[in-house]
Amino acid sequence: MSEQYVSMWKDLGLDLEAHDMLLEVLGKGYQDIYRNQKERPEGMSYFDFVLSEVHGLRIKELMDEKAAGRKVIGSFCVFVPEEIVRAVDATLVGLCTGADFATEEVEKILPRNTCSLIKSAFGFKLGKVCPYMESADMIVGENTCDGKKKSYETLQNLVPNLYVMDLPQMKSDEGRALLRAEYFRFKEAVEKLTGVSIDAERLKKGIAMVNNKRKAIHRLSLLRKADPAPISGLDALLANQVFFYDDPVRYTDSVNKICDELESRIEKKEGPFPKGAPRILMSGCPMAVPNWKLPWIIESSGGVIVGEESCVGERGTRNLVNDGGNTVDDLMEAVVDRYFKVDCAIFTPNPDRLTHVEEMFREYKADGVIHYGLQFCQPYIVESMPVEKSLEEKGIPTLRIETDYGMEDVGQLKTRVEAFLEVLKP
Ligand code: SF4
Ligand code: SF4
Repeated sequence: MSEQYVSMWKDLGLDLEAHDMLLEVLGKGYQDIYRNQKERPEGMSYFDFVLSEVHGLRIKELMDEKAAGRKVIGSFCVFVPEEIVRAVDATLVGLCTGADFATEEVEKILPRNTCSLIKSAFGFKLGKVCPYMESADMIVGENTCDGKKKSYETLQNLVPNLYVMDLPQMKSDEGRALLRAEYFRFKEAVEKLTGVSIDAERLKKGIAMVNNKRKAIHRLSLLRKADPAPISGLDALLANQVFFYDDPVRYTDSVNKICDELESRIEKKEGPFPKGAPRILMSGCPMAVPNWKLPWIIESSGGVIVGEESCVGERGTRNLVNDGGNTVDDLMEAVVDRYFKVDCAIFTPNPDRLTHVEEMFREYKADGVIHYGLQFCQPYIVESMPVEKSLEEKGIPTLRIETDYGMEDVGQLKTRVEAFLEVLKP
């Protein structure tokens, strides 16, 4: 893909040499982890294509949208409401946070003991390798964990267009009022950015577009209840990751096509893993592209991942926005209601998340839970201990993993995962 996009990358100010290096590593990782899987649904060829063009054709599309006067907004968190962005005909994209890059440079401005996800965002900026960040007209940061909140003060000096959204930490009336006020402030900010004023019709359209994409991914999730599972966890994770990058209408169609194929696989009792393979529910920190390490370890050890309790997964995509309102105010309330249910570990207390893990465990007929915490992620690592205790008390086998984006611990993780899967076997 490289040659035809070089001038576009140059115009975006990317460091071409470093960017080539990144694409090479990404391509090799994808080949080793994804393309080597067996019995993949044919529909996954669409996602193979999306990934192969993630810095190429998709960026070209964004540049074409910008040339036509539309805006691109980048985000790091599922609390940024895509409905409002779509209502002003802008495009929301997830920013790259799934791989280490320019770590030495990053550690000159952020403490070494910052989570990989935050360091990755800074590494992609400092290394000049993220075309999404460079093409964004507005980058939205959010006051979630302390690491992100404080690092945005530093990011402010690196990007000219950072907008910081405040977020509540408690599910109280005051918490909801804060989220509501922040979503109205965000609405005004995107209206100002685009010159488009949001009316009920526009907001309804935005809500429908995002609801449809969520419905498609819900459909995919439900099909994973079958035994044998009709799709690998790695492929389902990829579909969840692409949720943040692709054109929403095209994405919805592509996921629905895969679901049609999976339905016929279920009828024929086909899947990439044999019936009875240990079924794993993943829970914990989000996994952004190309953070595939732990799912790859699990599935190459014979387990099959049947669900993700994660922001790149069901925590991020569950619940639709009620589109029944006829005024902007009513629809905005519905948007707030939907997002206020997101049970990120930044909330205290956060009992809904544990309930959701248990529900998913039962619904997807899992045999065990693997809790994934990124090293130095206070909210999820601290929460993982009571979550593990409570699950174990209910007889749900749980393995707590703490790791980063490096590959040094692959051998050790594999040994632990294999031992866990052994315990789950009937
Ligand atoms: S884990 Fe929390 S901070 Fe991270 S994307 Fe999800 S909601 Fe946002
Ligand atoms: S993984 Fe944890 S520490 Fe890192 S950005 Fe997300 S919530 Fe914050």
